[in-house]
Amino acid sequence: MSAPGLDSLPTLRESLEAHGLWAKKAFGQHFLLDLNITRKIARLARVGEGDHVIEVGPGPGGLTRALLETGARVTAIEKDERFAPLLGELAAATDRLTLVFGDALKSDEAALADGGPAHLVSNLPYNVGTPLLIKWLTGPWTPASLTLMFQREVADRITEGPGEDAYGRLGVIVQATTKADRVMDVPARAFIPPPKVDSAVVRLEPRADRPAPERLDALQAITAAAFGQRRKMLRASLKALGGEDLILAAGLDPQARAEVISIDGFLALADAWRARR
Ligand code: SAM
Repeated sequence: MSAPGLDSLPTLRESLEAHGLWAKKAFGQHFLLDLNITRKIARLARVGEGDHVIEVGPGPGGLTRALLETGARVTAIEKDERFAPLLGELAAATDRLTLVFGDALKSDEAALADGGPAHLVSNLPYNVGTPLLIKWLTGPWTPASLTLMFQREVADRITEGPGEDAYGRLGVIVQATTKADRVMDVPARAFIPPPKVDSAVVRLEPRADRPAPERLDALQAITAAAFGQRRKMLRASLKALGGEDLILAAGLDPQARAEVISIDGFLALADAWRARR
């Protein structure tokens, strides 16, 4: 469903040109100007009428337009104030877009969500994608779902499991808190300007049994130590946190390496560590 007014907007290229805007590297700007791609991302986000979406980094507003076309209400937070006039034109074409100018790393999502549930959807700026994800997964506010574009290599770290090359600390934290799927590959040439590497969209659904904050803190401490020295056996990398006794208490093999331990294994280590403190 198209909101009244959205259809009559100039193309994204025309809007950028009319406002004399170009991509700035410092803000991690790589734009998606092809509405077929942004519409596909909006479909993969599975949002629609009655949903509230928080979008980080609308930039020229291609993904924002696609999200609005689904009938969803969108609150978009953008750091680069050069985009205010262009995004203002988009906001004038619908009553479902709220614009906020500021740094998403410092924003209060509960306030942006206005006390209700909200879905996060973003073609993330590469330079702050991972810290934003950690903030959303470990902070006090839980999104209804997250549909996010990352560099392909980061998407692999998010979705790969034990024994796979990219499995590590990020994957454990993400998969302990959400069900994570890589849902779309996007080649570098799809962006203006093209980044050096390809990208992928991941969709994350928070788990009902996600660890409580204290358990998550313990999981972060355990994974930091275990993957800090990923080639070492756990009994060496976890020495300062309890070593062999801790690992046996968690029902694991002290000679195993972090890269083969399952999410449940890491949770057992986190629980054993908390029980001893
Ligand atoms: N959504 C647009 C698209 O798909 O064409 C732009 C995506 S571009 C990869 C990332 C956007 O995030 C840019 O508009 C950039 O200015 C914005 N951005 C960068 N850092 C930010 C931050 N800390 N908080 C909010 N927005 C940020």
